[in-house]
Formats: sequence, C-alpha cells, structure tokens
Amino acid sequence: MKRCKKCILPETIPFIEFNEEGICNYCLLEAKQPVVLSGKKAFDEFIDYYRQEKKRRNSKYHCIVPMSGGRDSSYVAWKMAREYGLNVLCVNYANPFTSEQAKINMQKLSEELGVEIVQYRFRPGLHEAGFARNLEIWLQNPSLATVNMLCLPCKPFYWEIFRIARRNRVGLIIDGSNPYEVTSFKNDAVGGFGTKALYSRTAIMNFIKNVLKRSSYITPRNIESMLKVFLVMDGNTPFLHLFYSDIRKTALFYWIPYDEKEIERVLYGELGWEKSKDNESPWRFDCEIDSIKNLCFKRLIDATEKDDLFSRNIRAGLMARDEAMKRIEREGRINLSIVDRVLAKVGKDRSLWGLSKKALYI
Ligand SMILES: [Zn+2]
Repeated sequence: MKRCKKCILPETIPFIEFNEEGICNYCLLEAKQPVVLSGKKAFDEFIDYYRQEKKRRNSKYHCIVPMSGGRDSSYVAWKMAREYGLNVLCVNYANPFTSEQAKINMQKLSEELGVEIVQYRFRPGLHEAGFARNLEIWLQNPSLATVNMLCLPCKPFYWEIFRIARRNRVGLIIDGSNPYEVTSFKNDAVGGFGTKALYSRTAIMNFIKNVLKRSSYITPRNIESMLKVFLVMDGNTPFLHLFYSDIRKTALFYWIPYDEKEIERVLYGELGWEKSKDNESPWRFDCEIDSIKNLCFKRLIDATEKDDLFSRNIRAGLMARDEAMKRIEREGRINLSIVDRVLAKVGKDRSLWGLSKKALYI
C-alpha cells in the first residue's frame, strides 16, 4: 500500500493526493496551519484564577476532570491533583463497554491520588440497545460519515458534566483531549477536505443529510442524543456559553505539549497502572467499542484512526516515521476477542458482518 513519505497516511484515505515527492496534501495543509499552544506560563496564571474562584464559590473542588479511564484523562487528573495541588473531582460515565483494565486503573488512580470519582449512568440496557441498533443500520449501509453513530449514546457527555459542575459549584472543567487526535478522515467524510471542526455549519448539515438518507437512524433516542451533541459538542458551544456562562471548559494539551513518554512514566511509574492484556494499543483501550469502530474504518478505507493519530504526531515532531510504521503494524491490528466481547454484550456475533477473517483485514 502506498503511504505518504512524510507521514504514514495511506492512499486509501478519501481526498488524499500526493505531490511529486510523495508528500500528501494533509502534510502540506498542516504545514500552513501548525498547532499553536498557549504555554505553561499562561496555564499557571489561568489555574491561579481558579484557585481563588474555588474560595469565592465556596466549592469543595477546584476543577472537574472528565474521566474515561483512558490514559490522557488519567494523566490530567494526576497533573492537576499532584502537580498543581488542586482538589479534583473526576466524573466518569459508567459505560457498559469500559474495559476491565480501565476500571482497575481508575480505582488505582482514585486511591493513589485520593481523588473522588463520581459516576453517572443511563437506564440499564439503554446504551447497549442504542449501540446495537446503530451498528446494524450502519452495516446495512456502511459510510465513513456515519461511523460516529456507533458512539452516539455516550457522545453528549458534556451535557452531564456541566450539570454536575453546576451542582458542585465548580467553575472549571479540564479534559484530556489533544490536538493530534482529531481524525481528519472522519471529519472530512462529513465536511470535505480540510474540515477543522465538526460543528461548522456545513459539517452539521452534511452529517444530518447523511443520517436522514438512512431513515432507520431516526429514533426518539437517537434524535435526543443528536440534539444534545449539537448543543454541547466538545464543551465549547454557544449553548453552553449562554446557559453555563459561569463554567469554563478547557483542555490541558492545548496549553502544554503532549508528551507520551511523560504520560506513560506517570501512569505506570506513579499510579501503578497496568497495560490492557488483550489490547496492543495504549490509546483508547478504555472503551471497547473503539475496536468495532476501527473494524468499520478498516473495512471502508483499510486504515484505522491510529494511521491519522500517528501521522499528526509525525508532523508535530513527536514521533519518527520509522517508529510510527512499526507501531501501526502492532497497534493498528484489531483484536477479535474484544470485538466478540462487545458483540456478545448486545446479544450479537460477528456473523453480522457476514465476512471471513480475511475480508475483515485482520
Ligand atoms: Zn503526509
């Protein structure tokens, strides 16, 4: 398979083009708009404001960290509690698809840092049913633009997190998202080449058009979730600015650099984390639906979100291309036992795909 000579994006990515030197248009585009971070000094001043704000609000906590059980959110909790000495409240969605290792790691983090983790949950079976239905619809009419429908049931998590923040009089929410995990091929499938944000008008309208084309997606539950997603998105929307003007959401890795080695040192060295036994990838092992999503991506474009993530890391100078090629071999593979486990939870099996192992690209 032909790949970009600078990053590792393969020729199967929609909208990809290569110049004479074999460099892809994604590399050329990003060279024009590099990621700019606000810096540690600015972050320290920002946090100082919220140290005072806690007193003014008479709150028990300085900030909320949305916690998936994955490594980035766990590192943010460590950073804020240990390095900045803040009282952190972690908020976790009791996701029925959270991996066992992620649950164990979360427990360890809570004990080690002495931070509270509050959970919110939906009615039993609701998430499972929504996921199974959206997967079946997707398989009948696979499209890159609607893979995200698999994650719809838990996507509007900021809806809950802002409510919990208000209830606890907390003015600051800090999450662990980073600029390198914005998967271009997912966004571009909805908004066209170079789409920066999924909540641009064009992207939202195209997404709705794609969903409406498959009318089985139109269920009361999906509509409710979609409305909430559009209202809260990543925690920075006009709706939230209006109704929660006293609560600010930010992301640590838009201030300070993302350093994978430092994150691993903290998690495995200080928090006693252990790697997942059956997932080669340390990234997004927390929700096991990720393996199903990547199976869908593999089927359509013979690539996973990791091809994009590693490519962005290469462009940002955080990873060498050789290393990315080695890692994609290992981490780009999908473990079918995870796929089977997820499907079994919703009373399904792999016959849904009606394909052999070979056709699943595994
Ligand atoms: Zn490239």
